[in-house]
Amino acid sequence: MTLKEKINDTIRDVEDFPKKGIVFKDITPILDDPSLSEEIVDEFCLSLPKGVTHIAGIESRGFLFGFPAAMKNKSGFILIRKKGKLPYKTVSVTYDLEYGTAEIEMHIDAVKTGDKVIIHDDLLATGGTAVAAAKLIQSQGAEILGFSFVVELAFLEGRKRLEEFTSNITSIVKY
Ligand code: AMP
Repeated sequence: MTLKEKINDTIRDVEDFPKKGIVFKDITPILDDPSLSEEIVDEFCLSLPKGVTHIAGIESRGFLFGFPAAMKNKSGFILIRKKGKLPYKTVSVTYDLEYGTAEIEMHIDAVKTGDKVIIHDDLLATGGTAVAAAKLIQSQGAEILGFSFVVELAFLEGRKRLEEFTSNITSIVKY
């Protein structure tokens, strides 16, 4: 079985979560399979361009594969979190959701001018969160080298919104 097939077989679809009409791609069964999880981290590392100084993981499922991949690649790891969770001085970005707005932030010293960053999350949907993360990182002078996801909901066309930052957008499984 290929890695794509294994992920496809393991992810659980949860209908009508968090609200009616959404099919939530639940990756928690992958976490119960250490060899599959390791394969995902290895594949993620293979896709990384040379010169990546940091992987930025988006709360919270972006931490699961992002941090092991950063360690393996000998890169630093940055936490991008919802407002109010980080203890030190932060910079933040507000972005639109379907209803209302959301705010994400990172520590002010997480990246600096000249750093080369890959933004990672478990899943790309509309791309709104990843765009906000990219703005946050650019606001500190760092460069976006790419975006990396385990799953991409291609029918939502989030990829189009990320192309203004870079054409290096990778995902292992597309739906
Ligand atoms: P978006 O900003 O629309 O790209 O949404 C991305 C964020 O929402 C990611 O952190 C995903 O983990 C989560 N998300 C959105 N839609 C789904 C879905 N259908 N299944 C699982 N996670 C989702």
